[in-house]
Amino acid sequence: MRITRVEPIPVRVPLKAGMTTRTAHGEYHTSDYVIVRVHTDEGIIGLGEATVSALWSGETSASGIAAIEGLIGPALVGEDPTRITSLRARIDFLLKLNPFTKAAVEMALWDIAGKAVNVPVHRLLGGKLRDTIPTKMMIGAFDVPRARALAERFLEWGARCLKVKVGIDAAGDIARVAAVREAAGPDVPITIDANCGWDVPTARVALDRLRAQNLLVAEQPIAPGDVEAMARLRWSCGIPIMADESVFTLVDAWNVLRGGAADVISIYPGKNGGIAAAVEIAQVARAAGVACHVGSNLELGIGSAAMLHLAAAVPNIDSATYPADILGPHYHEADLLAEPLALLPEGARVPDGPGLGVMLDEDQLRRFRVD
Ligand SMILES: [Mg+2]
Repeated sequence: MRITRVEPIPVRVPLKAGMTTRTAHGEYHTSDYVIVRVHTDEGIIGLGEATVSALWSGETSASGIAAIEGLIGPALVGEDPTRITSLRARIDFLLKLNPFTKAAVEMALWDIAGKAVNVPVHRLLGGKLRDTIPTKMMIGAFDVPRARALAERFLEWGARCLKVKVGIDAAGDIARVAAVREAAGPDVPITIDANCGWDVPTARVALDRLRAQNLLVAEQPIAPGDVEAMARLRWSCGIPIMADESVFTLVDAWNVLRGGAADVISIYPGKNGGIAAAVEIAQVARAAGVACHVGSNLELGIGSAAMLHLAAAVPNIDSATYPADILGPHYHEADLLAEPLALLPEGARVPDGPGLGVMLDEDQLRRFRVD
């Protein structure tokens, strides 16, 4: 089997009314994606998805398409799509950074490899350890009434864990978390995510005051870069620390682990540059005795499916303790899938069809494509 074409398709999908979100990286009303179709001479088509957010990784639809049309596509045409390790190395040699774009292409290769032998991707990764993945719902950094209303809405739906965005201003952040805790009662696990929004002194004060809210973890309280500062915060604040923006690459993971800067590392195919890259980080973390969590950049259906296969097959991803952020489709007007994933309150079901186990909905694709 040979690759005949790598086709990038820019897509823009609005967030649902009332489900727009706000973090220290900004406010979101629409999300941009590059959907990838990798075509082969045997008629098998692999699907991939890149969340492209300049605020997150510096990638945009235009940059993703340029990278695929100018560099990745020409390097892959004529190659065997199932030689994923070799093709990853070639892509990494040609193009630095750009993890979400690379991940879209790489997950499409896994999709082809699975479809070619009629098995799900989780089987190619060693087999699934779980059938459902516990998840949480996310509450943007809104004022107290709106945050409380979202918490009540998600709990009524059946959500078993909530994540509250903070990192805007400490007083407002603390009030928002307290309101969500009050709505949730003492037993629902709550996490916070500052998305690098606090400086070190603010984080110290805010985390000290948030200790009373019995938080499961505090995600990325400060900016990446100063591993020692995050390690000091970890030891002094009394709340487990999760590294997200601090760990894009395997080397990032090594530095955070060696520096003792995190209790948990958040990984996912997009941020880490592919499924295999995320597995590598999980293994390094395992060696250090640190669990991983599946984070998100508001993926649609294809990206969420890739996260589910990863979460299902990797032992060191502890979604039972740290429910995954496999939630993007809940927030958007479309997931681009012919049949939606089963993202249920009690957990997201792992797809068992060949490859990623999902199919593109051509009507939705036409409706939301922006080229
Ligand atoms: Mg995060």
